[in-house]
Amino acid sequence: MTHPAQPKASHFINGEYVEDTAGTPIPVIYAATGEQITTVYAATPAIVEQALSTAKAAQKEWAKMTGTERGRVLRRAADIMRERNHDLSVLETYDTGKPLQETLVADATSGADALEYFGGLAASLTGEHIPLGEDWVYTKREALGLCVGIGAWNYPTQIACWKGAPALACGNSMVFKPSETTPLCALKVAEILIEAGAPAGVFNVVQGMGEVGGALVTDPRVDKVSLTGSVPTGKKVYAAAAEGMKHVTMELGGKSPLIIFDDADIDNAVGGAINGNFYSSGQVCSNGTRVFVQKGIKEKFLARLAERTGNAILGDPMDEATSFGPMVTENQMNIVLGYIEKGKEEGARLICGGRRADMDGYFIEPTVFADVTDDMTIAREEIFGPVMSVLDFDTEEEVVARANDTEFGLSAGVFTKDFTRAHRVIGNLEAGSCFINSYNDAPVEAPFGGVKASGVGRENSKEAIKHFSQVKSVYVRMGDVEAAF
Ligand code: NAD
Repeated sequence: MTHPAQPKASHFINGEYVEDTAGTPIPVIYAATGEQITTVYAATPAIVEQALSTAKAAQKEWAKMTGTERGRVLRRAADIMRERNHDLSVLETYDTGKPLQETLVADATSGADALEYFGGLAASLTGEHIPLGEDWVYTKREALGLCVGIGAWNYPTQIACWKGAPALACGNSMVFKPSETTPLCALKVAEILIEAGAPAGVFNVVQGMGEVGGALVTDPRVDKVSLTGSVPTGKKVYAAAAEGMKHVTMELGGKSPLIIFDDADIDNAVGGAINGNFYSSGQVCSNGTRVFVQKGIKEKFLARLAERTGNAILGDPMDEATSFGPMVTENQMNIVLGYIEKGKEEGARLICGGRRADMDGYFIEPTVFADVTDDMTIAREEIFGPVMSVLDFDTEEEVVARANDTEFGLSAGVFTKDFTRAHRVIGNLEAGSCFINSYNDAPVEAPFGGVKASGVGRENSKEAIKHFSQVKSVYVRMGDVEAAF
């Protein structure tokens, strides 16, 4: 019997599924049970070659189509994704372990938004006319060429769409390598794009670990690399791309501050902290994992937080009542449990959680530490799990300095009723994606990305267009050419 999450083959190249079992087998494990649901095979050099040469050949014709035609394909793909939201959400849950309650509203739907948004922009990607007396310059916004997308494991459908949609809207082709931990969903994105009318070869998926990613990044035919992953991987991929002078987008990790002032609405602030720490069981790059709470409301905040965190429903992710799923792998669970032990050893006060849940799968209880200080390991390193650190502060000036004292700069949030202060604080924080009286909203219309070690470039919004296209400038002389000799 085949499992419902069984893909037709490991790779999707030139408009069809392709298998090559000579590659390293990659077991796909369902995080809620530990059961192996299928196997995919890492791309062999022959598969990598097939994907790159196919994408290279397909790009020129795709770029020659009008923006309206390209946009129509993307918008059709968005419609198909929405129609199949339930099946795609179930697959996302198998791939990641995230509860269906989340995947039904956050994954294929977010992917469809990106396809629709960039499909809508595709026809309006124009240059400008720059008059210079009788002469003039015109500019053209052109595709970069062949793009490589490399994904992390937390949002496999969304990441494939956030990279694929703007790339294709601009007339590029793409070879996408999902994380080896969650290889299934991107294959469906490729299948849907073909069904929507994308020419074969425009969007391809190959599987594999870092080695396959490395082979893609260093290939001279590749013009751009867009990575979502950790900072250490980002440094390697950025360096490899620089060697070939390739364009890059780096969406990397974070240790973002969420600052809650005395005057904040407590329930909204608690809700923001929950969304910014426990959604997807904490496996979100932009999470506000350093929650700075002004001393005046600290105990009230902690009491309400503990009460509401106690309402999390851990259980079968396919049950829509479940609101909190497992860690994506056993390894990730052990990493997070290691951080929890460090928090206890270094003297943080455990408010709730702090243990592996007593059930099948890789579940960790949502965990809150209070009295965390800036030098503790749990306040400095990205954990990528359901571990919230609550730190105290007295003044605005102090909290801004402490919030910025990190190598990361992905996100930041502030809760206060004083709007002047809210804008001033956000203005002084070193972060790319910020929130006032909210946390972790990521609509496709808003630019998304980090500063400092958290990344380079932006995804989503019109900003993403700049990172998947380049400007050609053409000087047009009407008169004679003057030359020195
Ligand atoms: P990771 O860095 O281990 O892997 C990311 C991807 O890079 C995987 O597909 C992996 O196979 C590939 N890779 C690894 N080494 C490579 C190499 N040398 N060359 C090319 N590719 C290589 O990250 P992860 O564990 O999958 O994901 C978690 C990390 O991703 C966290 O740090 C998280 O913050 C970050 N993340 C960032 C965003 C964002 O948008 N900023 C979103 C999600 C996750």
